Amino acid sequence: MNHENYDPDDRIAALATPWAESAIAVIRTSGQGSIEVLSPLIKADLVNQESRKMLYTTLKDPQSGESLDEIMIVPFRAPGSYTGQESVELYCHGSLPGVQKILNLLFRSGFRQASPGEFTFRAFIHGKMDLTRAEAVQEIISSKTGKAQSLALNRLSGVLEKRINHFKDSATGMAALFAIQLDYPDDEVESPPLPLKEIEEIKNGLKELIDSYRVGKIYQEGVVIVLAGRTNVGKSSLFNLFLKEDRSIVSDVHGTTRDYLESWISLGGIPVRLYDTAGLRKFEDSVEEEGIRRTREVMENAHILIYVLDGSIDLSEEEEEMLAQSHPEGKGKRVVVWNKADLSQNRAPAGAIPVSAVTGQGFTELEDALRLQIFADTSQIGAEAVVDSLRQKELLERAFAGVVKVEEAIHNGLPVDVLAMDLHDVLQALGEITGEVSSSDILERMFSNFCVGK
Ligand code: GDP
Repeated sequence: MNHENYDPDDRIAALATPWAESAIAVIRTSGQGSIEVLSPLIKADLVNQESRKMLYTTLKDPQSGESLDEIMIVPFRAPGSYTGQESVELYCHGSLPGVQKILNLLFRSGFRQASPGEFTFRAFIHGKMDLTRAEAVQEIISSKTGKAQSLALNRLSGVLEKRINHFKDSATGMAALFAIQLDYPDDEVESPPLPLKEIEEIKNGLKELIDSYRVGKIYQEGVVIVLAGRTNVGKSSLFNLFLKEDRSIVSDVHGTTRDYLESWISLGGIPVRLYDTAGLRKFEDSVEEEGIRRTREVMENAHILIYVLDGSIDLSEEEEEMLAQSHPEGKGKRVVVWNKADLSQNRAPAGAIPVSAVTGQGFTELEDALRLQIFADTSQIGAEAVVDSLRQKELLERAFAGVVKVEEAIHNGLPVDVLAMDLHDVLQALGEITGEVSSSDILERMFSNFCVGK
């Protein structure tokens, strides 16, 4: 999308449902005159149809007279639509050639293909939602678990926007205070007390939101967990147990490469990409370098390595060494599992969780240990407003740095105009989060991540 010479009123259309055979396909249109342009294409009277009321009718090509489909159609008059402008939605049969014909007709009739995220972009420019809500729309669509979806839904309902606006109000109040002091130097009016308490409050609030980014990222992007260990210790059995226990599996198991198996699972709402590194096992002897390289890469990128030991036999030297290391190699964390606990009378070595992939014993403890590791460096898991966009987090950090500068300037007794300038930075950053001040490249980057039709 080119935001420089953007015409927010021209007519756009796109398929809002996936490009695949389905029972029903939804085609969305928006732009001035959409209703009038679509009206001659159907047999019913769209122009006089009440806004947001559905019509059942036949869609026809006015040139050839060919009936294209039996459809349901809804007109939305401005501002009562998703985009805030005149829109029409069409519900047709989900046959791909059928949908293509209808889209072609629309493109011939005065609509152009919408860019990814363009409907939401229009909602934003027509004041239907601020940027935090617009971003939430895409996050809802791409949520992998119910918990991730409900966090994004919170943002859509404006939880984050409200908090940011609260900071903004507070900072604007301070800016007004500084402005008075600039306009009337101290000898004319008595200086008001410095807003140290308010500054502390904004600082704490911003910090809380910045910290929530880690939690948000976990729920939105998920974490990578890799099962590692010697051959035959039970990695594949554990992999299957995870898949069986976590019923809300998001995708099928992929044997995409010969090196490892991978699957999305939900660990109590946390999306987890789980890998079984069959690769090392397979390639240990055959020196298939590529296989080993790829497996190592997966292990290095893991957030958590589940190192599996076989509880029914003695530990190898390498395993003893691994247990002795308090910190695992690489950037990830480590959870040690003492598998086949059902076959052993011995106690698990210190730091290892006794589990049986066959009986399921110890599995809950393993899940708890993983959750603990995932959230190890995070606080406020239960927080309502959680930030999961890097853009928002970086702007919050900018605002935070600005507030710290204001605070320091006050402590150092710097003149009011310096304070006012730092505060201006804070307001600028907060404004960019909600989109009041937004440079066009941010918009470009943000909305291009959207799907077409949203
Ligand atoms: P991998 O090579 O590490 O993937 O190990 P597998 O999952 O293929 O398991 C090797 C063998 O150990 C298989 O025969 C499994 O049935 C068995 N096994 C795995 N986990 C357990 C367990 O917890 N208890 C028992 N009794 N057998 C297990």
